[in-house]
Amino acid sequence: MTQVVDQVEHIYEEVIRRNPGELEFHQAVKEVLESLVPVLERHPHYAEHRIIERICEPERQVIFRVPWVDDSGRVQINRGFRVQFNSALGPYKGGLRFHPSVYLGIIKFLGFEQIFKNAVTGMPIGGGKGGSDFDPKGRSDGEVMRFCQSFMTELHRHLGEYTDVPAGDIGVGAREIGFLFGQYKRLTNRYESAVLTGKGTTWGGALVRKEATGYGVTFFIDEMLKARNNSFEGKDCVVSGSGNVAIYAVEKIHELGGKVVACSDSDGYIYHKAGINLETLKQLKETERRRIRDYVEIHSDAKYHHGGNIWDVPCVVAVPCATQNELDGDSAKTLVKNGCIAVGEGANMPTTPEGIKVFQDAKVSYGPGKAANAGGVATSALEMQQNASRDAWSFEFTERKLREIMRDIHQACFETAEDYGKPGDYVVGANIVGFTRVAEPMVAFGVV
Ligand code: GLU
Repeated sequence: MTQVVDQVEHIYEEVIRRNPGELEFHQAVKEVLESLVPVLERHPHYAEHRIIERICEPERQVIFRVPWVDDSGRVQINRGFRVQFNSALGPYKGGLRFHPSVYLGIIKFLGFEQIFKNAVTGMPIGGGKGGSDFDPKGRSDGEVMRFCQSFMTELHRHLGEYTDVPAGDIGVGAREIGFLFGQYKRLTNRYESAVLTGKGTTWGGALVRKEATGYGVTFFIDEMLKARNNSFEGKDCVVSGSGNVAIYAVEKIHELGGKVVACSDSDGYIYHKAGINLETLKQLKETERRRIRDYVEIHSDAKYHHGGNIWDVPCVVAVPCATQNELDGDSAKTLVKNGCIAVGEGANMPTTPEGIKVFQDAKVSYGPGKAANAGGVATSALEMQQNASRDAWSFEFTERKLREIMRDIHQACFETAEDYGKPGDYVVGANIVGFTRVAEPMVAFGVV
């Protein structure tokens, strides 16, 4: 036992040494490695083949200049990234994030998580991630288009339906995917539908893709609640964020009988005791691209808190759907004190390690992003399937598939956690399921 612990500790130290300053990447690696000690004991050949060390090193990393001209005629320069992390199970798959906080460490943490998340879905997709420090906030459609065209002018040579298939993430939605696809098509002279997912539904996009991450996290929480003989019925919920993931989590929670009483953006949060009005939320965020504070102009019985901490709002179910490390140890303590029994992560790594520990010690059902938000990328894989067969499935059929996938993910994580003597620990479950599914083909492929 101690020998394996030392081995894993050594691998982690090497990761820190080889990737200095990339704190989010270190954090993501640490959480996975901690789960893997019993796996190495049971399967010593993974250590012989140095599978963990290989998984921690991206297969390829591309960093490039993205020059473009803004509306005032000024030249702007951003930095573009694509980290192609692991292709043991299929072409690299993962979103693009456009946000000023993006640097290599963020893309690597996201790409690393994506390997395991994609494996957990059971679909044939490898892991990758990309993006830019471009800030779309306040930019015109023309500026966003010129940026996307410049970004794709470099990126296109690294993509392909059998090579690497990006999609959206923070700051990248249907508008951006449209501009990116248009430029890819123009540069390659190929209508290669499955090179990007999250496309518009009139040109090869899957129905339910837009809703998939939010619906999926809700289905996953529903499964966690069922496992403790409970349900969403009549429960107050808090969903942080107000982007694509948050909006459709609110929609599905309301359908399943829960009530979302708060959501947020990076400026502050709204509390609406009567329940968040979905139509208003969609109108403000999807159609008009406005801030969440404007919600109270339409609903005077709601309250806006500038700054503040959304996790102070009492709830039974918490769904962090904003960004990494948004829920810390103190927030987790507040949630537990207020009677929270389940947490499902719609965002990637939104809970800090201290927060996770608080939830697990308090026996809160805690669904890590790798499992709980895998519905988005799983539905991207369904989009690829439809593109490959030149077919288009109905909303109902696709949603049913998503529901089944989330049920299977929950079951695989639940059973694996039990098998490894950690019942109810979805972190261990997801990490071990994801790791072993990637490790097996890596062993089969030899040293590559
Ligand atoms: N960005 C999403 C995620 O974090 C979706 C990726 C995809 O659909 O490829 O999983």
